[in-house]
Amino acid sequence: MNILEEIKDAACVGITGHVRPDGDCLGSTLGLYNYLKVNRPDLSVDLYLEQPGAEFSYLTGIDEILHTPKNVAYDVFIVLDCGSIDRIEPFTQCFEQAKKTICIDHHISSQNNDFADINLVKPEASSASEVLYTTFDEDKVNKAVAECIYTGIIHDTGVFKYSCTSAKTMEIAGKMMEKGIAYSDIIDNSFYKKTYVQNQILGRALLESVLFYDGKCIFSNVTRDEMAFYGVTGKELGGIIEQLRLTDGVEVAIFLYETGDHEHKVSMRSKKQIDVAKIAAEFGGGGHVRAAGFTGKGTVYSIVNKIGEMIERQYVDMSQ
Ligand code: AMP
Ligand code: MN
Ligand code: MN
Repeated sequence: MNILEEIKDAACVGITGHVRPDGDCLGSTLGLYNYLKVNRPDLSVDLYLEQPGAEFSYLTGIDEILHTPKNVAYDVFIVLDCGSIDRIEPFTQCFEQAKKTICIDHHISSQNNDFADINLVKPEASSASEVLYTTFDEDKVNKAVAECIYTGIIHDTGVFKYSCTSAKTMEIAGKMMEKGIAYSDIIDNSFYKKTYVQNQILGRALLESVLFYDGKCIFSNVTRDEMAFYGVTGKELGGIIEQLRLTDGVEVAIFLYETGDHEHKVSMRSKKQIDVAKIAAEFGGGGHVRAAGFTGKGTVYSIVNKIGEMIERQYVDMSQ
């Protein structure tokens, strides 16, 4: 696909990504937004997302993101880094009213149900940003676009270390470096940097983490009261699951934070064996084999117990 070809007859285009936008969601949507702004100056482009985290403030165009849907029938509406239509709330109406819809994504087929008119879905790609880049003309990518693509790639590969990282991923990242981006700063500031309170709550979550299933699993949780005490929101708890995952001997890490009465946002990561996307799907969520999530009803213990049973089932199936 060549994205400029796909939209050549359009006068107005809308773009969105998934709820609670992460680095890849922001990198891919803003990457496309900036690419279209530069290469189709005549085009009217709107980007819709929830409020992004402050660590992404260096991305060009971030202040132009809209948070409420306009009542516009877009010529083309493009959804990135999102496998199902229910994850673009509250911007579904823009999608439904559009004359043509495109999805550019990397979620596996059981989760990406080809909901758009045109679907470019590459489950083997590290990130939606990587898939998006293949739709660009290389010489039309400027530094601002390169910063977005690079950001998306480093976030979904955990800075080039998850198994979704391929030689192609590295090749694209290298090309982005050649555009003169400040890659060290991008990695430090958007991925690793923690505020003082983020470090405090990370420390607390690690201190209270619990190993179970012979040390193969670990979980920790943060309550609404704790979040209020430290003055943080869910967006600022991103690094905790990563640190849990690194625990020696652990195959699956689970992190939960309370979002309502008996309601939790649950993140799961695995190292080599357990398919956490399968577990998330059973709770109505999704993601990738090694990184998945869902929002679940119940207490921390009831959710963790259920996940534990599903992990056990996968181990039993593997041994047969
Ligand atoms: P997270 O643990 O929130 O960082 O999410 C890990 C991966 O799972 C990302 O690719 C998310 O897009 C995906 N994911 C998280 N929550 C959900 C959900 N409720 N539905 C579908 N996919 C999800
Ligand atoms: Mn994402
Ligand atoms: Mn992604």
